[in-house]
Amino acid sequence: MTIVEARKPDPKKFIKGATGDWEVVIGMEVHAQVTSQAKLFSGASTEFGNDPNANVSLVDAAMPGMLPVINEECVAQAIRTGLGLKAQINLKSVFDRKNYFYPDLPQGYQISQFKQPIVGEGIIILDIPDERVEVGVERLHLEQDAGKSLHDQHPTMSFVDLNRSGVALMEIVSKPDLRSADEAKAYLTKLRIILRYLGTCDGNMDQGSMRADVNVSVRRPGEGFGTRCEIKNVNSIRFVGQAIEYEARRQIAILEDGGSIDQETRLYDAVKGETRSMRSKEEAHDYRYFPDPDLLPLEFTQAYVDELAQHLPELPDDKKARFVADYGLTPYDADVLVAEKVSADFFESVAKGRDAKMAANWVINELFGRLNKEGLTIETSPVNAGQLGGIIDLIKEGTISGKIAKDLFEIIWTEGGEPAAVVEARGMKQVTDLGAIEAVVDQIIAANPDKVAQAKEKPTLLGWFVGQVMKESRGKANPQAVNDLLKAKIGIE
Ligand code: ADP
Ligand code: MG
Repeated sequence: MTIVEARKPDPKKFIKGATGDWEVVIGMEVHAQVTSQAKLFSGASTEFGNDPNANVSLVDAAMPGMLPVINEECVAQAIRTGLGLKAQINLKSVFDRKNYFYPDLPQGYQISQFKQPIVGEGIIILDIPDERVEVGVERLHLEQDAGKSLHDQHPTMSFVDLNRSGVALMEIVSKPDLRSADEAKAYLTKLRIILRYLGTCDGNMDQGSMRADVNVSVRRPGEGFGTRCEIKNVNSIRFVGQAIEYEARRQIAILEDGGSIDQETRLYDAVKGETRSMRSKEEAHDYRYFPDPDLLPLEFTQAYVDELAQHLPELPDDKKARFVADYGLTPYDADVLVAEKVSADFFESVAKGRDAKMAANWVINELFGRLNKEGLTIETSPVNAGQLGGIIDLIKEGTISGKIAKDLFEIIWTEGGEPAAVVEARGMKQVTDLGAIEAVVDQIIAANPDKVAQAKEKPTLLGWFVGQVMKESRGKANPQAVNDLLKAKIGIE
């Protein structure tokens, strides 16, 4: 069988080895916890941070005779996610048992979907400047999470916490379409944004609601796929990038040395910054998958899917396209604003009825810059959309200069208040009265006759004069008026 690959080799993405170029090939399996109050097959709570074993029903503890009952909300969430990934929705899918033994898996099997998943092929478009990278989604299936073994609570005993046991996960499997650590990070970032927009997963990687298994192989450009290693359970986007960089280099070194890659499962050690072997293919599990006899095939109608589709929110790609088309933003600015729905909404309320590019500038450069510096978010921002809009209005109508506006932003940030009222109360208004500006200009010119002579020869000295006038007027003189007056009086064209 020949595999037709979606992507052509791209030299920009190659890694230089000692003996020439290499291409890294990456495919991701992401486990995303479904946003739902109850578990996939029981009514137990999914709330994070509760005492161990507080969220456990008899079903989750696998008591004899307990039967799973599908949670319709989890099914709807999986369908919404499939729609958000522009994927094929399968009206009939099947739950299978994936059999293995582990202390935190009381059933002795995980209920998952194997041959017939709820969602088939879809697509994710990466937001990489000046490039269009489309990554194929192979499938999305629903499955249960396992519990957690706690080994660090007692010197000689381990404990089992079943709070996560039975929590619904969506496993989202990409095609091996990614070609660099940066692309893999962009993929995870974009997937996370889409899930958060849809409200189907909170994307909280540090709470474990999104985990990635990263499959990595390398090859000479133009050749068929190499043998891959799977790096398990990487729990931050940054670590995904680091793990891939390390793993690709490790494989290249082995191959350049005349060795070969063993297909194996590896772990990423974030402290040491390296991957190490966990188990080889030979030890790989035989899960003895078979359809779960306790559950009927999962079936729903196209009308049900259409109903869910009608209520989807505007998704990031559409929002970005609209921001570029309707507001004239650059794709880069649109990406930044669209990354979180709250940021996009904030921008739109600032931009409403105003110069949109100016609004984007202020939101991204001043507000986001400041929020990042202080470790705050839009939700905890001391400056709201109305206040930021007010500052922009004052610049637009010429009441304050851009420079004074930054001071005003600082004041509103620390003390709050209504921008126009603050400007009034503190006498921050720009001086546009030509007479007043002219007086300052005359004064500076009179005090610096030699500089005036130099400026006639060297017009770039004008900047020095502008600076002096602005300083004298404490930043309040209208810069354009200052410029015009100085040119006229000194005699610069
Ligand atoms: P398995 O059934 O062993 O989990 P899959 O075919 O489901 O294997 O693939 C799992 C993941 O590995 C997918 O994300 C896929 O894109 C990725 N993958 C498959 N082949 C390669 C390869 N040669 N290099 C890198 N990733 C790969
Ligand atoms: Mg797989």
